[in-house]
Amino acid sequence: MNLSDSERVISVLNEAGYIYTDNEDEAGLIGILVCSVRQKAIDKVYSRIHKWNKWKNSKNLITFISGCILPDDHEKFLKLFDITFQMKDLSKLPEMISNYGITTSVHLKTGIDPYNENIEQFWELKPSYQSEFEAFIPIQNGCDKFCSFCAVPYTRGREVSRPSKDILDEIALLVSQGFKTITLLGQNVNSYGLDKKGEEITFPELLGQIGEMGNRLKKELWVYFTSPHPRDMTDEVIDIMAQYPVLAKQIHLPVQSGDDNVLTRMNRKHNMEKYRHIVQYIRKIIPQATLFTDIIVGFTGETEEQFENTRRAMEEFKFNMSYTAMYSPRPGATSHRWDDDIPHDEKKRRLHILTEELRKHNILYNKQMVGKTVRVLVRGADRKEDFLSALTEGKLIVRFPSENKNLIGQFVDIKIVSASDFSLEGEFGKETESVKF
Ligand code: SF4
Repeated sequence: MNLSDSERVISVLNEAGYIYTDNEDEAGLIGILVCSVRQKAIDKVYSRIHKWNKWKNSKNLITFISGCILPDDHEKFLKLFDITFQMKDLSKLPEMISNYGITTSVHLKTGIDPYNENIEQFWELKPSYQSEFEAFIPIQNGCDKFCSFCAVPYTRGREVSRPSKDILDEIALLVSQGFKTITLLGQNVNSYGLDKKGEEITFPELLGQIGEMGNRLKKELWVYFTSPHPRDMTDEVIDIMAQYPVLAKQIHLPVQSGDDNVLTRMNRKHNMEKYRHIVQYIRKIIPQATLFTDIIVGFTGETEEQFENTRRAMEEFKFNMSYTAMYSPRPGATSHRWDDDIPHDEKKRRLHILTEELRKHNILYNKQMVGKTVRVLVRGADRKEDFLSALTEGKLIVRFPSENKNLIGQFVDIKIVSASDFSLEGEFGKETESVKF
């Protein structure tokens, strides 16, 4: 989401005459779009701003901050940054810069939802896509779920869906410009349209229309979405994914815990029976789909037995990837008031167990791919010298020896020759133009 937001920030600043640089030493204006999900990211913001504020002794520099900011941090950032603003007010950023020192206020706890007042205006801003072949499209902003560990509903406001016409127009434009992958973004993509019942189409309908567009345009394209919430994940979504080639067969479905009692305390609004049904249905209807998840270990009060249920869930669902995090209380979230009673070392131990579980399954999964030829999208140079890095439709990492930078941004076929726990290695077969379905 921050990457997508930053593409609009760059557009607005370009319009205002600024030129983008990757080099902070030469910048006269530096901004951060912050994510409050982990404390580590916030700690980095503080170290950066202290450094930049020192630079102000020897050069002219304006700093700004936006993104998901918790109330406590907002108070502190007001003193440290020249400009703070909510993303919905992005179009006013050039004006704020020219009158710099003026900050927009965050009306937290006022009972109204100030976050999404101008969100449609924000969506209308044209992003400066940072890639020529991968794009992120926000389809929704905010969250109504109020998981007890999460502060997003307090930093992004309630769920608001972007008009489907604008989403479809943006996709059509991107496809005409030769983009190869598009990711639909939202805190809960699959509750798309539910805030405008009767006026707007639903998420499965949106996917269906994208699928039809893909069939019509006859370009090779992978459309992803992230993240869906298990509560709103219907069989219909999976049926539609199966029906249209353009809808990539990869699903990121956060489970967070494998224990019903923990899920209740997390206020996740789904239980393991519901989650199991979704996974079984995916396996039945789209057996080739890869499955990714998010898990929190050491949530407040998580017993050994409850953790063991999460480990068992991992064994059962055989995820291809899990973004597993040790629980850390987020100020503003409900669980912040509860005792963070699992010692750090114990959280680390649980994280390690889950990582090993993931590794065990991945090795088996990846090994059965050896000898097969897979379609991949080449994304750039690999860390391994003279290798390129690519992703399969299921977002598995594939590297292969090649110095041909022209392949970046292209779909190619790669024969897999070896496999490890988190990546595959292959040989480049033949370069192909975007193939028609
Ligand atoms: S669904 Fe839960 S974890 Fe996801 S953004 Fe909403 S409150 Fe946060």
